[in-house]
Amino acid sequence: MGSHRWLCGGVLKRNTMLFRPNLPEANCAAINFIGFASICKIFIEFDEKFWPDNWRGFNALWRGQDLPSEYWLKDIYGFHVYEHQPRVLLGWASGFHVDVIESMDHDALVQGIMDMLHRFLPKFKLSHPNNVVTTKWSIDPAHLGSYSYPSLLASEYETGPAQLAQPVNVLVYDALLSADTAVSVRATHMKPVVTRPVLFFAGEATSPNHYSTVHGAVETGIREAGRIISFYENE
Ligand SMILES: Cc1cc2nc3c(=O)[nH]c(=O)nc-3n(C[C@H](O)[C@H](O)[C@H](O)COP(=O)(O)OP(=O)(O)OC[C@H]3O[C@@H](n4cnc5c(N)ncnc54)[C@H](O)[C@@H]3O)c2cc1C
Repeated sequence: MGSHRWLCGGVLKRNTMLFRPNLPEANCAAINFIGFASICKIFIEFDEKFWPDNWRGFNALWRGQDLPSEYWLKDIYGFHVYEHQPRVLLGWASGFHVDVIESMDHDALVQGIMDMLHRFLPKFKLSHPNNVVTTKWSIDPAHLGSYSYPSLLASEYETGPAQLAQPVNVLVYDALLSADTAVSVRATHMKPVVTRPVLFFAGEATSPNHYSTVHGAVETGIREAGRIISFYENE
């Protein structure tokens, strides 16, 4: 791929200093206005399962008067039996407090979760879990979230995955044409001879139809590979 750079992932959203000089306005607007959210999985392992064989789990619907003082608990929207792991419940959380859940003190997390399970499963005889593990998508510096979504702001500002997917081009001058570099230095007498794309955007957030998904990520990688191939074929 020589002088080309390939980038994907939600890090763009929260890292405005990633590029110097800054990205073109259209890419920046897309990054600013496309939504990017977090989802968290919570695995709870017990010594023994305390639920009947035909029980699959529950989704949590809090009544106003029952809302917990641990505000982050209401972002956990349910617990379900984990396929092929007979002693494990899997909880899902999404919303504003996922990063709180993923970074909080372990004992406080376990305490809150057990309070919630006791509240929603009053008929079950719960044992204390021997292990609780959460994913860390929202605080992992290589991801900083889970996946993108189309936001109202993006539609208001008429931007989205297609704008984010626009490659960044540089003008290449005669003397530099054969060099495998994107340096934009030029002598005053030189005329630009070609526009060379040097920065490509792949990843689910650049897929207009399949954002948020693995197949969206894969198809955009193929799309950008095609863009590079066609650039060299036509050069
Ligand atoms: C809990 C969960 C469940 C999901 N379930 C499904 C599902 O059932 N079906 C489905 O289709 N999708 C699902 N997804 C979504 C799917 O996983 C993502 O949409 C997909 O993985 C995104 O791929 P990507 O290549 O766009 O980004 P990523 O997989 O995030 O890849 C980005 C890459 O960029 C790297 N990177 C970050 N910063 C830098 C940097 N500064 N320099 C260089 N590299 C950097 C990262 O290390 C990472 O490897 C799920 C996601 C989560 C979190």
